[in-house]
Amino acid sequence: MAKIDAWVAEKAKGKLVRQPIDLGPLGPEEVEVEVEHCGLCHSDLSMLHNEWGWSHYPLVLGHEAIGRVVEVGSAAKAITVGQRVGIGWTAGSCLHCRQCLSGDQHLCPKQTATIIGHRGAFASRVRANWAWAVPLPEKIDAAEAGPLLCGGITVFSPLATYAKPTDRIGVVGIGGLGHMAVKFGAAFGCHVTAFTSSESKFDEARGFGAHQVVSSRDSAAIKKLAGTLDLLLVTVNVPLDWDALMTTLAPYGRMHVVGVVPQPIPVPVIALIGGQRSVSGSPTGSPVAIATMLDFAARHGVVPQTEHFPMNRINEAIERLESGKARYRIVLDAEA
Ligand code: NAP
Ligand code: ZN
Repeated sequence: MAKIDAWVAEKAKGKLVRQPIDLGPLGPEEVEVEVEHCGLCHSDLSMLHNEWGWSHYPLVLGHEAIGRVVEVGSAAKAITVGQRVGIGWTAGSCLHCRQCLSGDQHLCPKQTATIIGHRGAFASRVRANWAWAVPLPEKIDAAEAGPLLCGGITVFSPLATYAKPTDRIGVVGIGGLGHMAVKFGAAFGCHVTAFTSSESKFDEARGFGAHQVVSSRDSAAIKKLAGTLDLLLVTVNVPLDWDALMTTLAPYGRMHVVGVVPQPIPVPVIALIGGQRSVSGSPTGSPVAIATMLDFAARHGVVPQTEHFPMNRINEAIERLESGKARYRIVLDAEA
């Protein structure tokens, strides 16, 4: 079936309008998935508003998809019709470059993002290369799993790479990504400090596993943590008091940025040199990293806290995310 039902943005900042669209013939290495649920990530909003200058309209957003495979291309491997899978930020990579062959498919220079030059999952169906359709473990609730596919892997990956259970970590911004980072960090066994600008989130952050909560707008309170954090994971998309936040790093500490902060972050080189500290960033993760994250989430009961909207209320859902009221990730559900 080529014609599908999609929620389309015709122009930057426009409302999404339901339209039939034609996906054309299924590629030999592609699989087609009937969308059951799809999380709403802040990156969808940034793409809708063309904040990064990459958006071409008409645009179909949605890159935290969960659904059943309904068709597989003639050369697709590993995935079978009827299987429940997740599709995140990336829908394809070349699978033969140095990065792909090294298992770093998320760093492939020729990767296809699910919502860039490709139709996303705020639609009845979405497609991906077979390698990027990640089977969902049985133990995971499909209705709550979507946010793990982009937000979840984005925060899990740096934790899995850099955090030890004995570490003290900080999570800056308790939104979609940040609240999952607190849950993963606590499940890793780390001591977790949550930094939030919203007083109403203090108690909930503790409920997610944070051992202490500090205002991300209170420079004096932040500086009281000087030299204590091994890893500071930044998930906000706004400038903060970077000097104060950098002081929290212990020797060998790392500030790792996954939120798309539009302005450059000033880095005091003396602090890097003196304490052998570092600043880094990363995008999502490879298919194996996503599968590992899903397995970990299933074993440790890490479940995103979600608000559900039917797909036909998607414009309302977008407004809610934009207003900062979402607690903590919105998921759009296919209509019955
Ligand atoms: P979100 O749910 O909107 O959360 C962002 C959080 O940032 C908010 O909940 C808020 O947390 C904080 N914030 C927002 N405005 C603020 C302000 N004016 N002052 C202080 N804090 C503020 O967004 P998300 O979906 O988690 O995405 C976060 C960022 O990550 C976005 O830039 C997104 O594009 C990016 N992202 C990157 C990747 C990657 O591969 N690296 C993947 C997915 C998303 P508090 O209320 O706790 O302060
Ligand atoms: Zn995303």
